[in-house]
Amino acid sequence: MTGLWSGPVQYTSSMKRVIAVANQKGGVGKTTTAVNLAASLSATRRRVLLMDLDPQGNATMGSGIDKQQLQRSTCEVLLGECDLEAALVPVNPGGFSLLPANQDLTAAEVRLLSMLTGREIKLRNALAPLRESFDVILIDCPPALNMLTVNSLVAADSVLIPMQCEYYALEGLSALLGTIEQIRDAANPTLQLEGILRTMFDPRNNLSTEVSAQLIMHFGEKVFRTIIPRNVRLAEAPSFGKPVLFHDKESRGALAYLALAGEMIRREEEEAHAAATAGTSGADAVAAAPATGGTDGANGVGAEGEQTSAAADEPTEPAVDAANRDAEPVELNTTDPASGYDPSP
Ligand code: ADP
Ligand code: MG
Repeated sequence: MTGLWSGPVQYTSSMKRVIAVANQKGGVGKTTTAVNLAASLSATRRRVLLMDLDPQGNATMGSGIDKQQLQRSTCEVLLGECDLEAALVPVNPGGFSLLPANQDLTAAEVRLLSMLTGREIKLRNALAPLRESFDVILIDCPPALNMLTVNSLVAADSVLIPMQCEYYALEGLSALLGTIEQIRDAANPTLQLEGILRTMFDPRNNLSTEVSAQLIMHFGEKVFRTIIPRNVRLAEAPSFGKPVLFHDKESRGALAYLALAGEMIRREEEEAHAAATAGTSGADAVAAAPATGGTDGANGVGAEGEQTSAAADEPTEPAVDAANRDAEPVELNTTDPASGYDPSP
């Protein structure tokens, strides 16, 4: 464990985590988060795999891969018709590997449902041989609590929940947390909550700041400090088939997702450090890790409420500034994402 920690400004943790990006609500920013977090973590030279588990294939298209032209996809992998490795495609620009998906995945889900045993562990089994070949594996879940989402949660180490801070958001959250609890009981006892990510945040909207404060009250440091603002560059990047980092790397959207990557890496390093100094197991350290600033996050949101124009790409936006500080320890390689990157796992 000690070897993991060698100071705050170096690449000290490889994460080694499978993270399901899930929320049964559609349009909350799951795919945007999955694609842009994949690119941002790749930019820190981590080996990243993004798995598209949504028949809409938005993560596939957003990564610049034509979903109508797939030789192999998540469908074949789930049905055991091909190995995961054989279905992966390199994403450039982006620097990560992708398991692509399209509408065939709907048929795969129907086939899974008709299976009497083992239908929940198909993805986990398919992933097993490659789990150690990547530093981070992200799963873009569909907008439903269906068998595809169940497969994702059974395969995952943790769940990242993107949320729009609006009235019905919290209502859906309890259903999702209930599902996570069921998955823990039934199949994946160590499944953790990676964090709750506030997306498409509009500080002009009072409800956003209220819901945001409630989230922090309930979930404390599990709410990421990084806030993803509403940003037009994030919305338009998929139409170019690129992560926002390669569409407009100065945009608030790109900076926010880099900051999220930085925050996740920093958390990981703090946990590794806590484990090393306490001489405890990683699991204990998670509980003991220093807070990454849940309360600061709340203050940040309050301060943001002062802001008048959320739509403008305003570089002095406090949440992004705070987030940028989180991103500082990350060694980036955004100018030449392909350098040193080998898409084969
Ligand atoms: P989901 O995968 O949860 O259904 P998406 O990531 O596809 O959600 O986002 C829904 C829509 O909102 C998409 O058109 C996307 O481009 C847009 N979008 C997502 N996040 C942002 C953001 N932070 N700012 C502006 N538009 C966004
Ligand atoms: Mg989606």
